[in-house]
Amino acid sequence: MRIDVLALFPEILAPALNTGILKRVQDADKLAVKLHNLREWATDKHKSVDDYPYGGGAGMILKPEPIFAALETLNPETNANVVYLTPQGTPLTQAVVESLSLEKHLILLCGRYKGVDERVRHRLVTTEISIGDYVLSGGEIAALVLIDAIGRVLPGALGDYESAHVDSFSQELLDHPHYTRPATFADLTVPDVLLSGHHENIEKWRYVEALKRTAACRPDLLQRLELSEEDIKILRAAGLME
Ligand code: SAM
Repeated sequence: MRIDVLALFPEILAPALNTGILKRVQDADKLAVKLHNLREWATDKHKSVDDYPYGGGAGMILKPEPIFAALETLNPETNANVVYLTPQGTPLTQAVVESLSLEKHLILLCGRYKGVDERVRHRLVTTEISIGDYVLSGGEIAALVLIDAIGRVLPGALGDYESAHVDSFSQELLDHPHYTRPATFADLTVPDVLLSGHHENIEKWRYVEALKRTAACRPDLLQRLELSEEDIKILRAAGLME
């Protein structure tokens, strides 16, 4: 998979791309990320990429010409998915991540200031993604969030590939609690079932805990699920459902 990032401050992404799982997937040639500075496509002597908004008002707008020129270079066949990171986009979820991870070529366009000239969105952008209902100063960190989430679900990214598929959201539930050694720490003990070696009971316990945690922390997620009678009984007994 190839990801091109087009941004005013692409260097923000470099340290994270050279660390941990993201570095590993690139070293294994599962992912190639290229960072591009939008100023490379500026045409005037000041290398300017922004201008005042028509109609007046506060803030600057990223000009269309450098972005159109950059896309001509980065997407000559126009077959890449051009993703604009914007608070106005589709909310990023694990399902969106999984779907984008199947693409061959993504171009991530990062805005700054008030954003990009609207004609860029009309003509060039194919997908708009928001990483949450808040406003960042630029799209670079949002692009990094997206690349990180995609990178870890690529086959071979994690030591144990399966482990990405039992994390929160991949099974529609939040993850179950985790414990490691020691079995007693201060006066806190690990649940007996996890020390029992009884795999069936452990799996059952994990499911119940994930169900209860989801009901307590993210009841909206449960509404999308078809709960079994047993699930409902568990949640009622825990006081998490009427
Ligand atoms: N005027 C824009 C609006 O209100 O929708 C916000 C512009 S913001 C200050 C500058 C840039 O940061 C945006 O163009 C976008 O690329 C990025 N950005 C800010 N918040 C974001 C979010 N929640 N998700 C994705 N990108 C975001």
